[in-house]
Amino acid sequence: MRTARGAAVLLTVGVVAALALATTGGSGSKDRPTAADVSPSPAPVQSGAPSGSPSPSPSWDGKVKVLGDGSTSDTGPQPKQPKPEKLKPGEKPPQFVVFSWDGALENDDHLFSRFRELGEENNAQMTFFLTGIYTVPNSKRALYHPPQHDVGAAAIDFPTDAHVKETLEQLRLAWQAGDEIGTHFNGHFCGDKGGKDWSTEEWKSELDQAVSFVTNWKTNTGFKDLAPLPFDYTKELVGGRAPCLEGQNNLLPVEKAAGFRYDASSPGEFQVWPSKKNGIWNFPLQMLPYRSSQGLSMDFNFLASQSGDSTNGDPKKYAGWEKEARDSYLAGFERVYNGSRAPLFIGNHFETWNGGIYMQAIEDVMKSVCKRDGVRCVSFRQVADWMDAQDPKVLDKLRQLDPGQPADWSRLVK
Ligand SMILES: [Zn+2]
Repeated sequence: MRTARGAAVLLTVGVVAALALATTGGSGSKDRPTAADVSPSPAPVQSGAPSGSPSPSPSWDGKVKVLGDGSTSDTGPQPKQPKPEKLKPGEKPPQFVVFSWDGALENDDHLFSRFRELGEENNAQMTFFLTGIYTVPNSKRALYHPPQHDVGAAAIDFPTDAHVKETLEQLRLAWQAGDEIGTHFNGHFCGDKGGKDWSTEEWKSELDQAVSFVTNWKTNTGFKDLAPLPFDYTKELVGGRAPCLEGQNNLLPVEKAAGFRYDASSPGEFQVWPSKKNGIWNFPLQMLPYRSSQGLSMDFNFLASQSGDSTNGDPKKYAGWEKEARDSYLAGFERVYNGSRAPLFIGNHFETWNGGIYMQAIEDVMKSVCKRDGVRCVSFRQVADWMDAQDPKVLDKLRQLDPGQPADWSRLVK
């Protein structure tokens, strides 16, 4: 156990190295907007409370309430949410699989829309960790006051006006399809003066600004003709992932105080049933079978081990690398699907590294696993809902299982 945990820490260093490179030379800046890209269609408004929501807002009276400056609105309980059910005696747990996306910008690569649609086609609901400044156009970057950095600075590009509009449209559609909108915070600073060096007060400022950007985009952009987002972000937002997986210790108390249900910033753990940390669910990236050892369930880690510092490695190797990534995800899936049934957590960015092979690997995995018997491809919040509905004694027993260890469910679940 110790050796493998050590390996996780080592791999995380690879994550950071790759990330620093990815965020400066990333795919977000080659902007070539076309007329067809801009589609500010008004949001269809939900009417009538859908049944079966796990957390219906008791105060909702069926009327849409526009909030603040019209950037967001309360349209009632989110559609298409499963009802979390306690395991019955002897029942095998569902196999949860979470596909999560860091950043969630819709740009000319159209990866947000591609995977949102793919999720709908494959019974997959997902978590989008929105970067707050993706609702702030480049001309308004001075609105951002990052901890330990100059006003208006960020390690990633601010979006164009067109990409802000397109991202808002994707957020609207994703939420209406039942996907979760979390946060990836703002400036994506890693390493020195990044999240790992931030105090609790600095993390609070970072989180408050992320919420402020999403709840005030209409004022900040001047896009007065666009419909509000169909959710109250101050309630929708219950989880986040720190950029580069750095700074969880000082971030957790801030998230707890903000009412978060979970944090997904842990730099890596085994495929075991989750526990709480500082009172909220800890949903880490996981160690999956990779080559002769294990690797983290995130695109950065495949990139770092396959092409090192380059996001454009040798094209002759792409097919083999893609297969390695896909096979690693699938091996991690099979291990728990036929074993402990611990949830599988996968993290990814919208990127085109090495010819887009990591995107294709995710697509293949989603198509392969989400419609299988007993599998539920869900958001992190839905996993938190389910965990909270279980008998704590059963959860304790589940946590004792090794990933590939099937249980005698009739004895484990009483
Ligand atoms: Zn990131």
